[in-house]
Amino acid sequence: MAKTQETVLEINLNHLEHNYRYLSSKIKSSTKFLAVLKAFAYGSDAIKIAEKLEALGVDYLAVAYTKEGVALRKSGIKIPILVLHPQAINFNLLLKHQLTPTIYSQKILDSFIKSAQNSGQTAYPIHIKFNTGLNRLGFAEKEIEVVSDQILQTTAIKVTGVFSHLAASEDLNEKHFTQAQLRSFENITQKFCHNLGYTPIRHLLNTSGITNFSEAQYDMVRSGIGLYGFGNEAHVDQLLKPVATLKTIISQIHTIKPNETVGYNRAFAAKTFKTIATLPIGHADGIGRIYGKGKTWVYVNGKKAFIIGNVCMDMIMIDITNIPCNEGDEVIIFGENPNASEFSASANTISYELLTGISQRVKRVFTKN
Ligand SMILES: *Cc1c(COP(=O)(O)O)cnc(C)c1O
Repeated sequence: MAKTQETVLEINLNHLEHNYRYLSSKIKSSTKFLAVLKAFAYGSDAIKIAEKLEALGVDYLAVAYTKEGVALRKSGIKIPILVLHPQAINFNLLLKHQLTPTIYSQKILDSFIKSAQNSGQTAYPIHIKFNTGLNRLGFAEKEIEVVSDQILQTTAIKVTGVFSHLAASEDLNEKHFTQAQLRSFENITQKFCHNLGYTPIRHLLNTSGITNFSEAQYDMVRSGIGLYGFGNEAHVDQLLKPVATLKTIISQIHTIKPNETVGYNRAFAAKTFKTIATLPIGHADGIGRIYGKGKTWVYVNGKKAFIIGNVCMDMIMIDITNIPCNEGDEVIIFGENPNASEFSASANTISYELLTGISQRVKRVFTKN
């Protein structure tokens, strides 16, 4: 890849393929694979990622909201797309684009049945979500009967999937909690499927579920972060390849004297002579103020350069004292080293937040190298 001349997020589709194959190797060949593409495929590019995964034979895609699914359909994606958190106001749009809604509450079930009936559907596919301890979305165990009875009373919809979501699959200190979730899912789905009279596909595991609890893979797994190269644990990260690399260049270099300050609020004060570089990337691009004031570093010609002072909207300043470099040189914010997991950890957050926060202002470029 040629050196960049501006801020770009480089997306490596070969790394995506590597991660998909690695994660697939952790499950049975008969288990379906759902790729989670919410939030622009974790900040990369949902359409390019979907096209690649569809070509690789992924079974299902998932997004959070209806309009994310519509964008994929408009780009020609044909495989099933599960909408994880649909809102009733979007049901007509969802039906029009043959997206599969997650039905997670009585209110959403009532209104989806109405929409499906009004548009003359028969056996429109839905997935039912149960809450097994995350306490975010999903029916409670005690609602099994009411829900299954109501579903059996209409021909407009048909349950093609039933699922739940783990709260702490990445944390082996919470193993007992996760195992209780696994048992709860088993009980709930047994009762629910018995009431329905058929067994739709069942799915429970996210990326860390695949790596830590593969015995509970059921008929399908749902992976997001793993496809993009992170496994929530350093030893898993090593087996995966980061899909996204955030790169920029040095816009300008300044030499500053002792007692001079850098940036807004004069947040960095030089004690000695310093050489600093200004980069064309800031909190409006997704590198938040949390990364400023010496907390985090980037790489300039293979050397660590700390972010100094406050992160501005469109710029950050880094300390390049003793790093041989010139205006125009490439700077790696995160990629293989530091990776998004390490970079985000320096500010006490996680790769998910960093990746999905890279704003749409940053140009996405694609590579296969
Ligand atoms: C985001 C999400 C996933 C993907 O989780 P990862 O940890 O990124 O693999 C799976 N299932 C649901 C319901 C989600 O919301």
